Amino acid sequence: MSQIISPRGWAALGIVAATAAIMAVIGVGPDAVIISVAGAIAAALTGAGGRSSDEDRLAPSALPANSPMMEPVLDALGEPVLDALGEPVLILLGSRIVSANRAARALLGSHVVGEDARTAIRHPAASGLLASEESAGPVALTGLGSVAQRWEMQIAPIGDGRRLVHLTDRSGSHAAERMRVDFVANASHELRTPLASILGYVETLSDAAGDDPVVRARFLKIVFDEARRMQRLVDDLMSLSRIEAEKFRAPSNIVDLGTLVDDTHAELAEAHDGRGRDIILEHESGSIPVLGDRTQLSQLLHNLIGNAMKYGHPGTPVRVSISRDGDAVRLIVADQGDGISPEHLPRLTERFYRVDPGRSRSVGGTGLGLAIVKHIVERHRGRLDIASRVGEGTRVTVTLRAPAINAGQPLS
Ligand code: ADP
Repeated sequence: MSQIISPRGWAALGIVAATAAIMAVIGVGPDAVIISVAGAIAAALTGAGGRSSDEDRLAPSALPANSPMMEPVLDALGEPVLDALGEPVLILLGSRIVSANRAARALLGSHVVGEDARTAIRHPAASGLLASEESAGPVALTGLGSVAQRWEMQIAPIGDGRRLVHLTDRSGSHAAERMRVDFVANASHELRTPLASILGYVETLSDAAGDDPVVRARFLKIVFDEARRMQRLVDDLMSLSRIEAEKFRAPSNIVDLGTLVDDTHAELAEAHDGRGRDIILEHESGSIPVLGDRTQLSQLLHNLIGNAMKYGHPGTPVRVSISRDGDAVRLIVADQGDGISPEHLPRLTERFYRVDPGRSRSVGGTGLGLAIVKHIVERHRGRLDIASRVGEGTRVTVTLRAPAINAGQPLS
């Protein structure tokens, strides 16, 4: 190895590799790190601009493409740099792979050194670029590794006809983009259904059917209900985006959770055909302070108690209790209903996920209530647990933080 790289090359390699390590540690993106790594290799291989005639004889261009001496170049850059990068990196001479780091061998197979890169990275978008002499990218690649993985390939020349190929795992951002697209499609669908219904009934009402007072009253009620459904959806969508926009700012107000639960109880007392009368409150008297956003905690209580009233069996109790545990305050909302089978539990907080879509819609659900609860709890740096037994009922626990004793702020 030391014969391939001149002393000045080693120095260049060390300096730039150290820079790359620092860049990785301070959170500079992998692209910037790879530029630095490419620079290090280029400098090392070319002897940083000055080679002796002895070194010229041992220059990498004089070595066979798959020389075992070339293989450890990347690994020799130092564990910290390449491990900090943690992504597949190859060196090509022409289109032949002369070196592959551990991540690259794990992705493409341990046999890739010596192979043609077009065989190792078998992808239509990649083969032309791998064969050319130019820098290229970023290019999106699918089908490497697992089906769900998405890669971005970049190619940079590093001198002496060699090029560095860097693969960045973009699976996470791809999944996030997929979720965003799905969300927009779901939201549009949810809004379009009541809208189509409203348009249909208004059109019918403007015809002869509108002359019959009984039919008119019935149709107008449907139009009103569908408009309310759209309104609930728009309200929930706006809440969700407001809460998400604030997610990095933890609430610092002190809220009396006991009073808030009492207020919510009073507001819901007559809701859902008097089902609110089944609510049983269990909390100590006096203030129960938590760090929070009053409006968002009120929304959380409405959503959780609302669900317990909607999905619990009519006439059975809906228990709302608050207890303290050190600097944590625990809120529990429990109902006696059909419960939820275990396979649904992990997905309940996904937007528009419903166990029984027909039932949810018939009780006025938007499919966003628990997604909103999850985001509120996350913003409060709290914890949400949903436990349920089929045929028995559901119990939702939210753990919030009590303020420090000497917080000295008025309750809101
Ligand atoms: P929705 O508006 O449909 O109620 P949520 O996001 O509040 O939407 O809840 C998602 C789904 O979780 C509901 O559609 C329902 O299937 C289920 N769910 C929520 N709370 C309960 C509960 N207390 N008991 C049984 N199922 C529940």
